[in-house]
Amino acid sequence: MDVTAFTILAFTLLGACFGSFLNVCVSRWPAGLSVVRPASRCPKCEREIPWHENVPVFGWLRLGGKCAGCALSISIEYPLVELSVALLWAGSAYMAGPGLDALRLATFATLMLGITLTDAKHYVIPDGFTVFGLIFLLVTSVIAFLNGASGPWFVPPIEAVYGACAGAGFIAIIGWLGEVALKKEAMGFGDATLMAVVGAAIGPTRAIITVFVAAALGATAFLCVVYPIAWMRARQQGREFEAPLVPFGVFLAPAAVGMLLAGDALLQWGGTYLGVPLQ
Ligand SMILES: [Zn+2]
Repeated sequence: MDVTAFTILAFTLLGACFGSFLNVCVSRWPAGLSVVRPASRCPKCEREIPWHENVPVFGWLRLGGKCAGCALSISIEYPLVELSVALLWAGSAYMAGPGLDALRLATFATLMLGITLTDAKHYVIPDGFTVFGLIFLLVTSVIAFLNGASGPWFVPPIEAVYGACAGAGFIAIIGWLGEVALKKEAMGFGDATLMAVVGAAIGPTRAIITVFVAAALGATAFLCVVYPIAWMRARQQGREFEAPLVPFGVFLAPAAVGMLLAGDALLQWGGTYLGVPLQ
């Protein structure tokens, strides 16, 4: 087996394990619980889950999606997240080859997935993801810079610091203006922490464009899908329509991964189109 194939295999297995850990983070951090202790238990019969039932994806399949103690069904979300993270890690190793960049791509994508899930389900962006992400990106940018070899995705250390400030600052300005205009909180502080992480990965220019891309995605999804469904439900149940909250992180995080992978191409295209260099 050559080095690249071995790296992809190793990353797939690692990714499945991190996916399993991501499930724990997503379900415990929003509730303010530790992700280290206690060991996983069934929420109904409190039976402790042995390691062999906790094997990513296969544990769930062998149990047929049910607790072995009380037959409480276990959400399919768990194996799906494990599988998704395994694929993200495999894809990162495939794209970047063996080395630090594969680890950075995989870690960044995993964090963004975790943030998308917690923001969608609980309207929170846990500090566990963002503080770790910011430190990880700054430290690895220095290591990559000192080693002299880095792919086209992540920015060097100084630009990472500018990016963190620009990302958090830009979304804070939008939130502040939105609050003045709408007379209610328009942006959570979590969005600013998320954009600090995004800026540290992709630098100021691509981070600011991420916000516009996410706003376009969010507006489309909410105006075309979420609001009409909520409106129809309210009508059927004879309630007054109340606009559901927009968890902006759900759109910022995937947009950031898109800008990391394709932002340069987008900027180049936009620059040619507008006749001004954007990079
Ligand atoms: Zn049980």
